[in-house]
Amino acid sequence: MDLFKPVDIKANAQKPEIEPDERVKCLIIGSGPAGFTAAIYAARANMKPVLYTGMQTGGQLTTTTDVDNYPGYPKGISGPVMMEDFQKQAERFGAEIRFGVATDVDFSGPVHKVVIDETRAILADTVIIATGATAKYLGLEAELKYAGMGVSACATCDGFFYKQKDVAVIGGGDTAAEEATYLAGLCNKVYLIVRRNVLRASKAMQEKVFRASNIEILWEHQTVDLFGEKGVEGAILVKKKGTPQEETVKIKIDGFFLAIGHTPNSEVFKKFIDADEVGYIKTIPGTTKTNVPGVFAAGDVQDPHYRQAVTAAGSGCMAAIDAERYLSEK
Ligand code: FAD
Ligand code: NAP
Repeated sequence: MDLFKPVDIKANAQKPEIEPDERVKCLIIGSGPAGFTAAIYAARANMKPVLYTGMQTGGQLTTTTDVDNYPGYPKGISGPVMMEDFQKQAERFGAEIRFGVATDVDFSGPVHKVVIDETRAILADTVIIATGATAKYLGLEAELKYAGMGVSACATCDGFFYKQKDVAVIGGGDTAAEEATYLAGLCNKVYLIVRRNVLRASKAMQEKVFRASNIEILWEHQTVDLFGEKGVEGAILVKKKGTPQEETVKIKIDGFFLAIGHTPNSEVFKKFIDADEVGYIKTIPGTTKTNVPGVFAAGDVQDPHYRQAVTAAGSGCMAAIDAERYLSEK
């Protein structure tokens, strides 16, 4: 990833300076549970927040079916519906929600500059970064070759196309368990390809996987390639890689679903904001403050541990309160 960073900086340096045409008290970047919760609190504190949604309005939960663990919904709630409700609640208090992506920032001065869609710049007294995380891929050339032709990182988005077919889900966490269970309801057969001999997923999610009769777990298997004429027709796996029992296995599948975790969306801020080696933004413990005064981070982009909707929402609330206190202290 670092290899690409100098290229990006050079490209940005060559662009003409974009003059800001607006100044706001509070700019929120991201529209997941963290961003919308920050917007609710900031709007109620009369900070007149402007929120940019990014490419995925509503964030990661728009790619899931039911959310069963968010407090206040005893019967569970559909992820996309819940995120629409978050947005409506933020708008009810006057938060301005705009579609656009933060493409560059300048946090060197006392007032912060954020470039949107590479075309316009906004000055903000406070910035709340709530850009969440993005699905990871294995890094195989075949993933690019078959993108949209059998390779997907979202079962709830693409599962429909694999009705009664055979698919594989890669990963052993909650996402993989959830995706495998969801696909088991649609597909003929689901292989769950797990690189270790245990699942990282919670016990409740594991039990759902074990109960599904058409999920077969391939323990200690790693995918090395995909094959197929016009789309994915199968995968080549290596079992017990690097051991004397190493063995190459071929499976016939029509769909290959990645569920191996996410990368924090912090790249655009890294020139100014401290992040750990994975890219999670560092915050002062117990707060959402970053190393730059007036810039706060909330949700998955700063959370390597919990990464839940409720923790993201909680830290979004903290960020708005931190921003409000920063402004009043100024
Ligand atoms: P996200 O939801 O990731 O949202 C990030 C937002 O930032 C998006 O709107 C995106 O468009 C925007 N963005 C990114 N870059 C930019 C940019 N440069 N400029 C502007 N905007 C940008 N958690 C639970 O508690 N319960 C569950 O049942 C559950 N199910 C899940 C199912 C799946 C399939 C997945 C993937 C996750 C699930 N999670 C669940 C985890 C939960 O979705 C996340 O913890 C939560 O969404 C994080 O919220 P967030 O606001 O930090 O970021
Ligand atoms: P995760 O917990 O980080 O799990 C990633 C999984 O992918 C792990 O099993 C990991 O294996 C595997 N993996 C990583 N890289 C791999 C590679 N190169 N090849 C093969 N396998 C690889 O990610 P997640 O499952 O997306 O969950 C993220 C967060 O969202 C978690 O906090 C989770 O609890 C939450 N979430 C919650 C729910 C829910 O509550 N319903 C649903 C989905 C997600 P190892 O185990 O060997 O490291």
